[in-house]
Amino acid sequence: MRLVVQKFGGTSVATAERIMAAARRAIRAQQQGNRVIVVVSARGDTTDELIALAKEITDNPPSREMDMLLSTGEQISIALMAMAIQALGYPAISFTGAQIGIVTDSFHTKARIKNISTQRILQALNDGQIVIVAGFQGVDENYNITTLGRGGSDTTAVALAAVMKHDPASPFREVDCEIYTDVDGVYTTDPRIVPEAQKIAAISYDEMLELASLGAGVMHSRSIEFAKKFNVPVMVRSSFSDVEGTWIMPETDWMTQVPVCGAAIAKEEARVSIVGVPDVPGVSHRIFSAIADSNIAVDMICQNLGVAGRAEVGFTVLRNELPATLAVIRRLADEFGAEVRYEDNVSKVSIVGAGMRTHTGVAERFFRALADADIQVKAVTTGDIKISALVDKADGPRALRAVHQAFGLHLPRRDLPSRALTGGDGHADPRELLASELPVTGRLEAMEDIVVSDITLDESQGRVTLLELPSQTRVLSELFAAIAQAGINVDLIVHSLRNGTARAEVSFSVPRADVRRAWEIAQSLARTHWPQAQLLLEPEIAVVSVTGVGVRTHTGVARRMFGALASRGINIAMISTSEIRIEVVVDARHGPEALAALRQAFCAT
Ligand code: ADP
Ligand code: ASP
Ligand code: MG
Repeated sequence: MRLVVQKFGGTSVATAERIMAAARRAIRAQQQGNRVIVVVSARGDTTDELIALAKEITDNPPSREMDMLLSTGEQISIALMAMAIQALGYPAISFTGAQIGIVTDSFHTKARIKNISTQRILQALNDGQIVIVAGFQGVDENYNITTLGRGGSDTTAVALAAVMKHDPASPFREVDCEIYTDVDGVYTTDPRIVPEAQKIAAISYDEMLELASLGAGVMHSRSIEFAKKFNVPVMVRSSFSDVEGTWIMPETDWMTQVPVCGAAIAKEEARVSIVGVPDVPGVSHRIFSAIADSNIAVDMICQNLGVAGRAEVGFTVLRNELPATLAVIRRLADEFGAEVRYEDNVSKVSIVGAGMRTHTGVAERFFRALADADIQVKAVTTGDIKISALVDKADGPRALRAVHQAFGLHLPRRDLPSRALTGGDGHADPRELLASELPVTGRLEAMEDIVVSDITLDESQGRVTLLELPSQTRVLSELFAAIAQAGINVDLIVHSLRNGTARAEVSFSVPRADVRRAWEIAQSLARTHWPQAQLLLEPEIAVVSVTGVGVRTHTGVARRMFGALASRGINIAMISTSEIRIEVVVDARHGPEALAALRQAFCAT
């Protein structure tokens, strides 16, 4: 028998009518011969209203009590949903997270799931009941109520699907997870900001993980970690209609035929710079481990080259985490004799695509779109399958539209095979593809623990750095257009405006065989257009990387990685973070030792 986990978001349970409609959907799934678990969010804007209420009492509500408060939103929904199903004549029972044993760690307001007990759910399902579970909440080992972070009901739903699929006590091996929301699928970007966005037929776990963590609010990114680790196919679809939604599933060939599958914006970002830190090994480790200790995930790390033994380290955090970040960073800066600067009026615009790994010229197209739209880029970083640009908040939506259009994402995809969902390879639906058993990388007893799948050393690249560049975005598009025209494939890029000046720095890696050519191209451009620029050539660099699931937001990974390198006195020249890989550039002669250090750090667990 198949088990279906249906999750209804806030808008889908906002009114009594919608609760009844959701109840009918759950009943229909049961009548079709499935067992059904329903996960619900708080109704409409309840969670926002509860937060506002707390703020009326105090500016700084204790996080434990905040969780106690916020969890009530979902508790209302589950009771109403159970009543609705019963009113329609079918048995149903509601449970809070604590009641069914969703055990989390104790990081209030962003707790991670440790494990879920299946006993009580199985008993109720066996009795023929539709089981209603409160999303977004759990309980720690001391029975304190916790919540999983905004949007966390998706994560409850996929985690439940995962545990029901793999727990030996559960009879279900076929488990579907349906996310019912107010859009009819995952679009190439947020259709509320870019109305011409197109619905995507299917998207890979990695792409969705990146998009969600870069701001595509349609799914909670941590839910995709569960989906990938435990092979749960997820469908995002409308609670208002029956149209086919979007499958989130393993990568298939057709997905990489285009370089970019989607674009996202994280509107509320902040950028922090520490100016004048000592340029010695171990400093990055000190900075990033202190932030990681506060469970704050950083992105867009830019390390400017040291001048007179002092360097600048910059990075972005979510705007609401700026106060906590500054508290940590100011303490360190005092110790280093460095200065902290920040701006909190910035947005991050990103493109994502598994096809980026093999297509060239992606960066150039991205920069050209932004330059043509006259958008000042403040920083750029790349990851395995993403490129992000930091822009003024006021420019954010325009920048998003520009890059969306530049990659043709506003046009319907015509190149899809007729059975687009599966790459036309004979499988009728992704559930069959998943049945062909991919390895399960997660563990039920520590469900949300980080999974590191690979640690590698890449000794095939060199690096070119340009300092003292004019700050205009056009400079980036010209530089990378010339590199792309020469057929040179660029891998990592880090660009940033030197804080407080109109000068920019950019550093990029290319294959060693091409690095001299890339340097010459940059030099001839600089000679004619940017006479102030200084160029540096490193014919050989080493790139060590840690690949896994959710490695950026599991802040412990970066800490362990930088710690392992610092303990061996290895200096970090460049850092690239994404949800699926953290890459670090080190001096070529340190490559093998860096690899050994990382292997030791991660295999010891
Ligand atoms: P729910 O309450 O059902 O969880 P959310 O508001 O969390 O709903 O998510 C749905 C919203 O996500 C949509 O209304 C849409 O505005 C937004 N969104 C952002 N990015 C995307 C995207 N790429 N595709 C679809 N919707 C998106
Ligand atoms: N109610 C919570 C929120 O608004 C969780 C969710 O909707 O997924 O963030
Ligand atoms: Mg949501």
